[in-house]
Amino acid sequence: MGSAARIPVTVLGATGVVGQRFVARLVQHPWFRIEHLAASERSVGRAYAEACTWQLPGETGGRHANESHAGCGARTLVAATPEAAFAPVVFSALDSGPARDIEPAFAAAGAVVFSNASAFRMDPVVPLLVPEVNAAHLALLDTQRVRSGGRGGIVCNPNCTATVLTLALAPLHRAFGVQTVMMTSMQAVSGAGWPGVSSLDILGNVIPYIRDEEEKVPEETARMLGTLRDGAVVPADLTLSAACHRVPVLDGHTEAVSVRLRGDPSPEAVAECLAEFRGEPQELSLPSAPERPVYVHTAPDRPQVRRDVQAGGGMSVHVGRVRRCPVLGIKFVVMGHNAERGAAGASLLNAELAHARGLLDA
Ligand code: NAP
Repeated sequence: MGSAARIPVTVLGATGVVGQRFVARLVQHPWFRIEHLAASERSVGRAYAEACTWQLPGETGGRHANESHAGCGARTLVAATPEAAFAPVVFSALDSGPARDIEPAFAAAGAVVFSNASAFRMDPVVPLLVPEVNAAHLALLDTQRVRSGGRGGIVCNPNCTATVLTLALAPLHRAFGVQTVMMTSMQAVSGAGWPGVSSLDILGNVIPYIRDEEEKVPEETARMLGTLRDGAVVPADLTLSAACHRVPVLDGHTEAVSVRLRGDPSPEAVAECLAEFRGEPQELSLPSAPERPVYVHTAPDRPQVRRDVQAGGGMSVHVGRVRRCPVLGIKFVVMGHNAERGAAGASLLNAELAHARGLLDA
């Protein structure tokens, strides 16, 4: 697609951890182009480069900014309202408080909002989407459109910890059936946004509490692994216990997982099932789709965040140490990029799937 034909998009919360990753991805995206960058009242009217503390390598706006986007840092931030920032496609990196009012306002104005916030994730008519896992749930966007009589709607991606876990559980659920899961997370500081946890609190430390996380992971995972029946998602029937910890790691959530599967498959069968997993994004060759959604490591000391988190643009999750668990049958470790696969890259992939299905107006 030429630059004029690309679909104009707005980034809400463009100055934050996830917003910056949206900008960095969008400046080189083949299907979308940035029309508006929006943030809070604090930032409105200021140049993007001045209002945000750029966390990624290179110049503000992205190291590989192409010509049509050169000068992203000089753009003026606008208010997060449809009047100031309408585009047919909206990527939201808002906190869930402001998202509660702002996202429906854009949807009512006719935009399709791809959201990272938790505000509408459990709304029965909002798809909670990981395209490799539950692409069929995107049909709920039509339900929203029929109800509103408009072209807008909201599509959510899940919590970053639930995304990483679900990408590893989905192939196992399909092949064997997941019955019980125990998951202990070690979550990166970037998952808390900017400026996030203070250095005095996190350096040399582990914090065994992340607000609402241990509740979100089971309910979102069961919903994503659930089935769409008569226009509603029936959650998967599984028991999941999550213990979540913040650790002094920059990017990348690591999760130690024990799982009981139907038929008690061997570790070899489980590793093979994970390595073979592919989904609709791979079949359609969507621009943000990794070649392998789940990368299975055989080295006994992998995956490691410092070595593996950036592989595949941060869009694969990495599984290692698949072995017998004396309690639940199988255990392994899974690691993925919280701000890419768990946030900005995830929303982009959702929008790409919607576009490939003809659901986005140019
Ligand atoms: P963040 O770094 O704190 O950024 C928040 C953004 O929202 C900033 O751009 C901020 O703008 C803007 N904002 C705040 N209040 C606003 C308002 N009233 N109106 C308009 N804009 C407002 O947070 P984040 O880590 O990027 O997270 C963004 C969302 O993604 C959250 O819902 C979070 O739960 C979710 N998420 C984050 C991750 C992750 O790894 N970080 C992963 C998955 C999901 P100003 O700069 O002007 O204040």
